[in-house]
Amino acid sequence: MIRVGLGRDLHRLVEGRPFLLGGLRLESERGELGHSDGDALAHAVTDALLGAAALGDIGALFPPSDPRWKDADSLDLLGRAWGLVRGEGWELVNLDCVVCCEQPRLLPHRDAIRRSLAGALGVGPERVFVKGKTGEGLGPVGEGLAVEALALCLLERKDAERGAP
Ligand code: MG
Repeated sequence: MIRVGLGRDLHRLVEGRPFLLGGLRLESERGELGHSDGDALAHAVTDALLGAAALGDIGALFPPSDPRWKDADSLDLLGRAWGLVRGEGWELVNLDCVVCCEQPRLLPHRDAIRRSLAGALGVGPERVFVKGKTGEGLGPVGEGLAVEALALCLLERKDAERGAP
């Protein structure tokens, strides 16, 4: 059985916060505002994986109302969610992501972000890809006020090996 999952996240960018993407800290004047560390890419990936397995979403698993997740490491949240998904027998075929922001340029950091996400998921970096886009000066992303991340994943489960009919 294969299942596809989609995740999307958007965070406001403000001065005095680190800019994290997929667990990697990038040099930037602004960073993501959020209850956790605000890593929009990690959040989108988490929702894609949870959605593919129909196991809820990041807001249900790690509610902002719970002080445990204040300033939480989003790569740790991703690892926890992925542990639930793997526990149901799912393996990652591939993960493809788009990050939309004006600054900084993502291309020089792409492979490091891929390695960071792949490491959190326990897979090879060839299964993870990340593309950067700008907002062409339009909307909150284009004005540099926000970062948006999209993630699409494909999961596979060998049900025959699990003894399913
Ligand atoms: Mg978020």
